[in-house]
Amino acid sequence: MSKRIALIAHDEKKDDLIKFARDYQGILVHFDLIATGTTGKLINEKTELQVTRMKSGPLGGDQQIGAEVAHERLDGVIFLRDPLTAQPHEPDVSALLRVCDVHDIPLATNLATAVMIVSYLETGCD
Ligand code: PGA
Repeated sequence: MSKRIALIAHDEKKDDLIKFARDYQGILVHFDLIATGTTGKLINEKTELQVTRMKSGPLGGDQQIGAEVAHERLDGVIFLRDPLTAQPHEPDVSALLRVCDVHDIPLATNLATAVMIVSYLETGCD
């Protein structure tokens, strides 16, 4: 079965995530991908990847992804956070990070660890 990962990026980090998605498209294409609304829309438009979109982050998308983690239906979360800008949905952001720790799900909050997670999950993909 395909590995399933979630992709999320705050506004200031969306360009970085698109570049990451393009650079690692050859690996990511083997994964089942979900994303928050705007992040997913951009990935669908700007890469060859197909992503299932949740709600936008501020409208509950982070919580939807958190629920997937709680159900243990995700193998990893890549969440490029903007540490310099206050987010209106900060409680949801914190909750998502927390639930990943509760369920021991690999979580990347920057590009360096994002690369490590996809490289790690690649082993075991067909
Ligand atoms: P977005 O949500 O992809 O819909 O912008 C991300 C977030 O802000 O958590």
